[in-house]
Amino acid sequence: MNTTPTHDVAVLGGGAAGLSAAVALARSLRSVVVVDAGEPRNAPAGGAHNLLAREGVPPLELLATGREEAQRYGAHLRRTRALAARRVDGGFDVELADGGTVRARRLLLATGLVDELPEIPGIRRFWGTSVLHCPYCHGWEVRGQRIGVLGAGPASIHQALLFRRLSEHVTLVRHSMPDPGEAAWEQLAAVGIRVVDAAAERLRGTDGVLQALVLEDGQEIPLDALVVAPRFTARTELYEQLGGTPAEHPLGTCVATDAVGRTDLPGVWAAGNTADPAAMVSVAAGSGVVAAAAINADLLAEDTDAAVRARSAASARPRGTRAGAAPR
Ligand SMILES: Cc1cc2nc3c(=O)[nH]c(=O)nc-3n(C[C@H](O)[C@H](O)[C@H](O)COP(=O)(O)OP(=O)(O)OC[C@H]3O[C@@H](n4cnc5c(N)ncnc54)[C@H](O)[C@@H]3O)c2cc1C
Repeated sequence: MNTTPTHDVAVLGGGAAGLSAAVALARSLRSVVVVDAGEPRNAPAGGAHNLLAREGVPPLELLATGREEAQRYGAHLRRTRALAARRVDGGFDVELADGGTVRARRLLLATGLVDELPEIPGIRRFWGTSVLHCPYCHGWEVRGQRIGVLGAGPASIHQALLFRRLSEHVTLVRHSMPDPGEAAWEQLAAVGIRVVDAAAERLRGTDGVLQALVLEDGQEIPLDALVVAPRFTARTELYEQLGGTPAEHPLGTCVATDAVGRTDLPGVWAAGNTADPAAMVSVAAGSGVVAAAAINADLLAEDTDAAVRARSAASARPRGTRAGAAPR
């Protein structure tokens, strides 16, 4: 006998996207369970920025508040990792790292992405504090400071130009960047970005505070921040287990969806960085709400169809066997 209760929706991942979806679903009286490993991508950062009315809130504080809000409306939270997902009759089973299983009629994948950083020794120690990727997330905090940009590809030119708006002291270290062409060199020169044609070897600093980038030729560039361009690799294991194929994205990989988060797998939605690697917190949260509304509508359509079928079956029975006549 199956003793696993069936939820309407299992939300896998409880960051901004997953929790926003959970609030919207729970407020629609949907039974929702959120499975969350508790490691949001921006955890190393001191604050989440560009977030109206919560500007600069510490990322973990934001999500703690979000969990309280979701629970207040009746969402169930499981602080563990989803290991495997498979389709079963009428929905999905998700195996959890704590040994449990959750069963749900619909799945929302909101497990975020992995930032694949350049392979430079020590870079992880500074990630999110002095090693940065996004001018909107951290630019204000490093304005006017000594900023290095680690060359990797054409995006590095764009990053250097963006950060030059925030500081006069920007140095592009060419590192692995192919020749971007004469026009790009002209742009850098025109706005006063210094270019160092060398490869980086390691970072020097203490307690998450960068002091210098050490180059392969032994030269050191004193820096307060280093800008890098990670590859954004969406966590797609669960989607792949269900038969999905990850899509390429200009910044990495993702789970492809339509405008409301529906994937190509029936019953499976995706939101936040899983579906859009470029989504910032507010966008991830918004996509969670949009997906939640679409899932709610999908469940509503299924339930309404079932009610219509049940009513037709009841009215097709011979007279005297009907449980009760519905008003016409
Ligand atoms: C250093 C840094 C700083 C940033 N600063 C800002 C900023 O200032 N402002 C801004 O708007 N954006 C910022 N961002 C972007 C921001 O992190 C993302 O927009 C946001 O985290 C996306 O939310 P999400 O819910 O899609 O994913 P996440 O926040 O990453 O949440 C995904 C959740 O799913 C969980 N999870 C993963 N796999 C599983 C699994 N198998 N089972 C269960 N749970 C799982 C994770 O542990 C995590 O809790 C920053 C990003 C970085 C890297």
